[in-house]
Amino acid sequence: MKPGVHRIGELAVNKHYALIIDQERCIGCEACTVACRNENKGAQGFIRVSTLNAPNKDTPAGVFPNLRMIFQPALCNHCEHPPCADVCPLKAIAKQDNGVVILDEETCDGCRACLDTCPYGAIAFNDDKDKAEKCNLCRHRIDEGLEPFCVICCEGRAIHFGDLNDSASNVAKFLAAGNSYRLKPEAGTDPSVYYLPPREPRGL
Ligand code: SF4
Repeated sequence: MKPGVHRIGELAVNKHYALIIDQERCIGCEACTVACRNENKGAQGFIRVSTLNAPNKDTPAGVFPNLRMIFQPALCNHCEHPPCADVCPLKAIAKQDNGVVILDEETCDGCRACLDTCPYGAIAFNDDKDKAEKCNLCRHRIDEGLEPFCVICCEGRAIHFGDLNDSASNVAKFLAAGNSYRLKPEAGTDPSVYYLPPREPRGL
């Protein structure tokens, strides 16, 4: 069977790859960012880790003694309705049947039309290559049946990868448990990256 397809009974169904990021488990170590840089040779890496409601990543939010550090890794959301693909004049960005939004560097001519259309700021411009670049969800790995490199390098096991169209998958089970959220739902892009919020602080 082709990669990107699974079988339900007699039916061959396209996969819908997704990521679940568990903020209860993320410790902000940036192992994902380093893994991404290493695997994709991207200048910056395609994952940014920020601290919610704080001016700097390693600054807690709140007022002493009520301080919290909640980390939020952010990357391309592999949107179901990707505006970046709509504006690319060369069709260098396209949604694949398996849900992954691919930016093909060979086709990109560096016109920058996509950069400002992404509501998440997930597309970077590589000055050395004179091309746009972003997370392709480690296409070269998942086509071989492997997980994206950020997933296997996450120290806290906070990033989960799987097929939303398979009800037995890890990601489908996480979502079935409820309380996940996605970034900027008002943008209407229908992201494939979901977050599980941290639990309330435990008493001492
Ligand atoms: Fe495109 Fe941005 Fe959506 Fe990724 S997150 S598919 S770059 S609009």
